Amino acid sequence: MSKKKNVLTGAFGVPVSNDLDSATAGPRGPVLVQDVHLLEKLGHFDRERIPERVVHAKGAGAYGYFEVTADVTGYTKAAFLSEVGKRTEVFARFSTVGGEKGSADSERDPRGFAVKFYTEEGNYDLVGNNTPVFFIRDPLKFPDFIHTQKRNPATNLKDPDMFWDFLSLTPESIHQVTILFSDRGTPATYRHMNGYSSHTYKWYNAKDEYFWVQYHFKTDQGIRNLSGPEADALRSADPDHATRDLHAAIERGEFPSWTLEMQILTPEQARDFQWDIFDITKVWPHAEVPPIKVGKLVLDRNPVNYFAEVEQAAFAPSNFVPGIAASPDKMLQGRLFSYHDTHVHRLGPNYHLIPVNRSKNAPEHSGQRDGFMRTDDGGGSGPNYWPNSFGGPEPDPATGEPPMGLEGDAGRHAYAFPNDDFVQAGALFSKVMTDTDRAHLVANIVGHLGGACKRIQRRQCAIFHKAHPDYGTAVAKGLGLDLDDVRALARMSAAERAEATKA
Ligand code: NDP
Repeated sequence: MSKKKNVLTGAFGVPVSNDLDSATAGPRGPVLVQDVHLLEKLGHFDRERIPERVVHAKGAGAYGYFEVTADVTGYTKAAFLSEVGKRTEVFARFSTVGGEKGSADSERDPRGFAVKFYTEEGNYDLVGNNTPVFFIRDPLKFPDFIHTQKRNPATNLKDPDMFWDFLSLTPESIHQVTILFSDRGTPATYRHMNGYSSHTYKWYNAKDEYFWVQYHFKTDQGIRNLSGPEADALRSADPDHATRDLHAAIERGEFPSWTLEMQILTPEQARDFQWDIFDITKVWPHAEVPPIKVGKLVLDRNPVNYFAEVEQAAFAPSNFVPGIAASPDKMLQGRLFSYHDTHVHRLGPNYHLIPVNRSKNAPEHSGQRDGFMRTDDGGGSGPNYWPNSFGGPEPDPATGEPPMGLEGDAGRHAYAFPNDDFVQAGALFSKVMTDTDRAHLVANIVGHLGGACKRIQRRQCAIFHKAHPDYGTAVAKGLGLDLDDVRALARMSAAERAEATKA
């Protein structure tokens, strides 16, 4: 028995006598296989890394709370939203999307904005971005889209041809491309950006009336962005600047907060709405659906261990609580599958038991058992099937969601209104942005698109032109392209334009 208080041990608690010298046959070696401490230490080190997230690999997270500030019981029966003043513990993670785990925080990219609410009815995850829209509206395109944002399979280099080839052949991306290449594509820190659900979700109340909603977390720190040159400089000066900023602000006691505003539509209003509310490439204009303030998100506690709490954090848009449900948004429907699936791959089938992911305030009473790394009593001796007559947990019909009518033929339906895709991007460019915003947008695009081949530049400029003639003209001029050619390409259908600009 050791008399020391804080003795180094191996993984199974056995004291270690020497952690500097491997056991060898004589002072010059070789090393003995019987040095089991060395074998255990090397073997565990060899397995320290888990698969990197395929998207959102680089991130930072913190704990805090969400507080309700307005009565929303007319819209949702979610218990954590049931009372003004009610607080629920949360864990939030912010991230870039396309870069690897070691990539720079100042890269031009959307930022992930994921919040896990540890409610008394189980965990609710809202897995959004700092942009209210997305590049594509169909999940079938998602792996292709992400491939183009990552590295070329032959060279392992980022490839502007891949990047812009896909986007210029996917015109619905123009709205998100315009936000991404504005200075909002390089937020100053994670504290100085908004978070959006981007998708439409369904809220339903105790009377089983339902509503379509979108979430907007507005930063209380104010929006602050980096210009293109500032982001470039930070990439080498401090590649982890946003991770550092979040941690340091919380350590200083400067707790970042966001005001949650909701846009809410009744099913009747949604039917007459000018935009398809399930199309994630569109926003709901504020003037038509004024956002209402409903709560505050505050982050006030740093994690103790990055790997345990941030790297292993797993958010899934499929984690709903009673009162909140999915909408028919196709991208959301794809994500309902994909997030859980990727966590099972990355963390294993029992990732829901990792403390940061565990349902802290509503104990699990499921029939799920066993699997790799099931470390608790696994549901004990209780029945693991339903129906049973041994007093096992029972389903509660009162927690179900109201039925929703659907119509239409099963099939692969192309988008019916392709010209709509340019309207909101054009409004952003011409009505919302200032002259400085527009100048930065054009310079940021010219710097990036300039790396792609000419035929792709021409095709993408036609898309900018369709959003707004001044937009297309400014980028085309910056790239030294023939304006008449860009205008002619803009007049073509997407299929004609693709044909006219193929390799
Ligand atoms: P509004 O004038 O009511 O709202 C414009 C909103 O644009 C602002 O509230 C701000 O959103 C956001 N914004 C400001 N500057 C930028 C920028 N450089 N890049 C991206 N967004 C910016 O107009 P509408 O609601 O009619 O929307 C007009 C356009 O504004 C939309 O087509 C869309 O591109 C953009 N927008 C709209 C949002 C919405 O939900 N309606 C949300 C975000 C952008 P915020 O207050 O969220 O910071």
